[in-house]
Amino acid sequence: MKTIKLALATVIVMSLVIAAHTVATAAHSAATTTAQQSQDTTDPSLQHYLNVDSVNQVIIVQHTDSTYVDVQLWIKDRSGNTPAWDIDLSCRGYIGEKGMGKTRQGDEKTPIGDFGIITAFGIKPNPGTTLPYVDVNEYIYCCADPVAYNRIIDVRKVKHRCRGEHLINYNPQYNYGFFFDYNKECKRGKGAALFFHCVGKYPFTGGCVAVTEENMAALLCAIDINARLIIRGSDAPMGH
Ligand SMILES: [Zn+2]
Repeated sequence: MKTIKLALATVIVMSLVIAAHTVATAAHSAATTTAQQSQDTTDPSLQHYLNVDSVNQVIIVQHTDSTYVDVQLWIKDRSGNTPAWDIDLSCRGYIGEKGMGKTRQGDEKTPIGDFGIITAFGIKPNPGTTLPYVDVNEYIYCCADPVAYNRIIDVRKVKHRCRGEHLINYNPQYNYGFFFDYNKECKRGKGAALFFHCVGKYPFTGGCVAVTEENMAALLCAIDINARLIIRGSDAPMGH
């Protein structure tokens, strides 16, 4: 009887040793993964927002060439002792036909900078984002008139003959999108209706940033209202 108990105890001890070893191995591989990813997180915007408590997602748009950009979504991982950035999505995107560096309305360029999110919107129903979501119907415009320059409005509430963008006409581009705060002071002539939206039939936009509809829905579902959008230029030549 004693022998059997001892054997059982040995098995239990051995099991604990094996379990402990498995945990140690798992911890080691997690550390390795973090170390590999940290090589990519030396980006100055990621480093800055790592220590800004309210910001949990950063979208980086980097111009590559022509009207192409690399789009990366980074999500803050708070599971460790110190926060870290994990990459959640990486895809190609498209910018204005005339490239980067928007300064005025109609220049067909995409603005460079660090932007906040105003609202999500779409012709299609909310794909599951927690962002405020404007369901686009025939009354929704992004105004370009003095009454509400660079604001998404419902013309039943802001009554005027609006000459801004009639969002419902941009299908499939505005199936899903979000409005970011370029020209948040709403200065007339500086540019209005700068969006992140779905790509249409051309590999460029009128100054917005576009990705596939699938990636647009994924971005909307992953970000909150405090996410940051970083758009960076390059010296790459333009032309298709
Ligand atoms: Zn208007």
